[in-house]
Amino acid sequence: MTRPILGVAIDAPLRRLFDYRAPASIEPARLQPGQRVWVPFGRRKAVGVIVELRQRSEVPDTRLKSALALIDEIPVLDAILLDLLRWSAEYYRHPPGEVIAAALPVALRNGADAVASAERWTLSAAARTGDAAPIGTRATRLRGLVDYLAAHGPGGAAELGALSPRWRDHVRELEQRGWVLRVREGVVATGTTTTAVAREPGPELTPEQDAAVGAIVAAHGCYTPFVLHGVTGSGKTEVYLRAIGAVVAHGEQALVLVPEISLTPQLVARFAARIPGPLAVLHSGLTDTDRLQAWRAARAGSAAVVIGTRSAVFAPLARPGLIVIDEEHDASYKQQDGFRYSARDLALARAQRHGIPIVLGSATPSLESLERIRAGRAQRLDLPKRTAGARPPSLHLIDLRAHADTQGFATPTLLTIRRHLDAGGQVLIYLNRRGYAPTLFCPGCGWVAPCPRCDARLTVHQRERSLDCHHCGTHRPIPETCPDCGEAVKPVGQGTERIEETLAGFFPEFALARIDRDAVRKRGSLEQTLERVHSGEVRLLVGTQMLTKGHHFPLVTLVVVLNADQGLFGTDFRAAERLAQTIVQVSGRAGRAEKPGEVLIQTEYPEHPLLQQLVHGGYDAFAAAALVEREQAHWPPFARVAVLRAEAPGREAPLAFLEHAKELVATCAVAGVEVLGPAAAPMERRAGHYRAQLLLHAATHSPLQRLLARWVPLLEEAPGARKVRWALDVDPLELF
Ligand code: ADP
Ligand code: ZN
Ligand code: ZN
Repeated sequence: MTRPILGVAIDAPLRRLFDYRAPASIEPARLQPGQRVWVPFGRRKAVGVIVELRQRSEVPDTRLKSALALIDEIPVLDAILLDLLRWSAEYYRHPPGEVIAAALPVALRNGADAVASAERWTLSAAARTGDAAPIGTRATRLRGLVDYLAAHGPGGAAELGALSPRWRDHVRELEQRGWVLRVREGVVATGTTTTAVAREPGPELTPEQDAAVGAIVAAHGCYTPFVLHGVTGSGKTEVYLRAIGAVVAHGEQALVLVPEISLTPQLVARFAARIPGPLAVLHSGLTDTDRLQAWRAARAGSAAVVIGTRSAVFAPLARPGLIVIDEEHDASYKQQDGFRYSARDLALARAQRHGIPIVLGSATPSLESLERIRAGRAQRLDLPKRTAGARPPSLHLIDLRAHADTQGFATPTLLTIRRHLDAGGQVLIYLNRRGYAPTLFCPGCGWVAPCPRCDARLTVHQRERSLDCHHCGTHRPIPETCPDCGEAVKPVGQGTERIEETLAGFFPEFALARIDRDAVRKRGSLEQTLERVHSGEVRLLVGTQMLTKGHHFPLVTLVVVLNADQGLFGTDFRAAERLAQTIVQVSGRAGRAEKPGEVLIQTEYPEHPLLQQLVHGGYDAFAAAALVEREQAHWPPFARVAVLRAEAPGREAPLAFLEHAKELVATCAVAGVEVLGPAAAPMERRAGHYRAQLLLHAATHSPLQRLLARWVPLLEEAPGARKVRWALDVDPLELF
């Protein structure tokens, strides 16, 4: 038999596979797609993943090199994951080696063992025949271990640790008495971050929750997408927990994706307390070793539930049973650089390949998901009411034009805050701008402190006594006087830091806390602040976007959105959707317990239809109107778009490259794709680079894909391509 050719994916920015001869020492029958191999690559040795086995190569025989060694017997990517990744590389037009690298923990990319050689224990022959020394009737812990090993066979740290926290002592004692033996195996992986036995039964489900759980459970073993639309606090997480419980009871695994910001220790603890089996947690803060351990536990099937952020969509699963995506509208599911995938969309594709149900949960479903329901491609599950008798908050608009504004607050707003504080409530103030003030201004000559590297102003951070650019990280001291005319300069506008100061002035008798990226930078400080909020010590809470996700604030009775107007006239077609989601999410923090909540939205445009729909009809009314608008304007989900972005230190190069790219579209001869631009970004210069983009627009996906398949190879060869940094974004979340 001849040595096969391996089509290998290597982590390099090239949109192709690399051909190698199979290693001479390996019998061809041992080779499978999904295994890693060491290969010579340029002057170094690289880890690659076998994607294809072929009989011949386009590369001439004399130049074809041999792979050096096979790393895995069992593929690190099973057939379904490998297929999903190949499809993603095509769909997003991204180099396959980088796509596959994104799916593997760093340790595996560097050649680490995919299989842990784990220590395990098994019953001795003497124990089985009853010849071991008696362990005594009172040693119930020891008995428990023995019974477990007798019933389940050999066990490792994950299984035995779940039986007792002192299991190592017990095992040592049993070893000494000749009951158990230590074995080393190279096959089964262990290594989970939390082990738990289900202890808490959970509340009795409402009829709506019960129906939702019933529908998900009934879809067992069938690809069925569900959109679980439940207002904040309606018990969505409870539905996930029950549906997952049923999956785990079947001996299958659940994959749970959560937004970056909500993977908190509290959430993990809630799952750990309820899921009858070990949990593997995957997020970006893990060490390479922990990540590898969690990956192994997921693949070996020893983790009943795998919970993680975006990239966990690629976690291997031995026995997949269910996928859950919490807060599916969240922007963190879309990777914004490199391999720009949507974890939500890939999770749907993955569930389809496995033939399992998938639940997309949200209080504010994306318009894509709502359209999916309308088109019959997903089943809707509703949780219209809050649990435990909590009532929905009432929304009111405060017209900023009609009232005096005192440092960001209209008079009626201040009066309402006072009323809630006096009644013993907690008040949450939301402003999506951290720092003290967005502008440092000179009253003498009109100078404003600019970022030297961006078309943007520097934000004043009073406590740090610094001027910071939120786009590029430029950091410098605050000047005392204007560099142009020498007059004293002053901060203008409101940031969370200044709002905190203002509130301290108005309501000095109430304790105050701030939650934003600056305030919680220190490790553990977010937990501390949340603790002070939950205990009721903190009465006024100021924060950014960070507040709107996942946190429960049962004592909050009033939410104030300080300025809704930034989102009303955004240039991006998703600006309105994003604003509505933010307002509804932040409003959802109010009145989650028995106290009813109130929400004030300050705006200069109270008559704006978006705000009117939200106040009078809630998110559903807004979404229905927004979908009609999208359809009329031919924007997604009623069209497909891709953008080609380019940037360079000079203004001309990106535009020239994009002009050329536009001409290349014409040579591809694909009908049905419209090209818009090129246009400079609204903030053209960022971190010293000028940025521009070209937008491709088509009614459906297939002409767009046909065009991209022909066009991207031409772009790679284009003469201007080396003078710019360019990237393609398919299904972009933001147009800039
Ligand atoms: P969501 O995920 O939609 O925000 P959760 O599942 O976190 O909602 O539920 C909100 C609160 O209500 C939690 O404290 C939860 O324990 C409680 N809860 C959920 N379902 C029920 C129920 N059926 N009966 C009583 N309390 C419930
Ligand atoms: Zn000046
Ligand atoms: Zn900058």
